[in-house]
Amino acid sequence: MKDNKTVLAIMAHPDDIEFLCAGALARLAKLGYRIHMAHVAAGDCGTLEYSSDDISRLRFAEAERAAAVIGATHHCVGARDALIMYDEPTLRATVELVRRVNPFLVITHSPECYMIDHETSAKLAQTATFIAGAPNFQTLLTPPARPTKDVPYLYYADAVEGKDRYGRPVEPSFYVDITREVKTKERMVKCHASQRHWLLKHHKVDEYTNNVRRWNGPNGQRCGVAFAEGYRQHLGHSYPQDNKLGELLGAIPA
Ligand SMILES: [Zn+2]
Repeated sequence: MKDNKTVLAIMAHPDDIEFLCAGALARLAKLGYRIHMAHVAAGDCGTLEYSSDDISRLRFAEAERAAAVIGATHHCVGARDALIMYDEPTLRATVELVRRVNPFLVITHSPECYMIDHETSAKLAQTATFIAGAPNFQTLLTPPARPTKDVPYLYYADAVEGKDRYGRPVEPSFYVDITREVKTKERMVKCHASQRHWLLKHHKVDEYTNNVRRWNGPNGQRCGVAFAEGYRQHLGHSYPQDNKLGELLGAIPA
C-alpha cells in the first residue's frame, strides 16, 4: 500500500467526476499520483437528438478527452443511465475494475444525492472496495484481475448542489482548496460538449460550465478560500482510519 500511487474515482455518469471531485484529482495528479476516472453508466439518456448508441459513443469520447486534461485513464463500467443496479453483473464488473486499477484511494458519490444512479454507484463502490481482496469473489470476466491486497481509503464527494432528497444540506467533514484547479475543472467540464451545448441552447448562458463555480464557491466561502470541494471519509470496519486525502491535500476542517 505504501508504494501504491494509484487513485480511482467511480461515479455514475460521464461528467459527474468532473463536477464533483476533479479539483482533488487534478491536485493529486500534480503530486505525481496516477488517476483513473470511471463512470458506471454510459450516459445514454443525456440527449434529445441522438440514438442511445450514438450518444454513448460520443460521451465516451468526451469523457476520454476530459480525463486526458489531467493525464488520467478513463473507464466505463458498462451500465445504462437510470439502470445502475446494485445487482450481480454490475457488482462483478465494478469489482473487476477495482482489481484491475488496484487503487490505494477511491472517491465516489455521496451516499445521499439527488439521483438513485448516484446513490447506487456509491453502494457499488463501497462493496467493490471491500470485497476486491476476497479471492472467492469471482468476477467471471476473462482474464480476471488478481484480488487486491488492501482495502483502499474510500471517500464520498459532495452531493450534487450539496443537498439530499429532502433539500437538507449534506455536510462534508472536511474541505479541499481547489482555487487553483477551478480553471482545469472548467476545461474538463467543457469537454462534455454534448451536455454543455444542450443547456446552452435552452438557457442562452453557459449554465453547464457555470455549475463548477456555483457549486464550489459556497463551499469555499464556508472554509475561507475561493473554491473548495467537500469530502467525507468512509470509516467503517476494515477501512483505513487515517485521513490520507486530507493529509495529501491539506484538509480544511468543516
Ligand atoms: Zn450523474
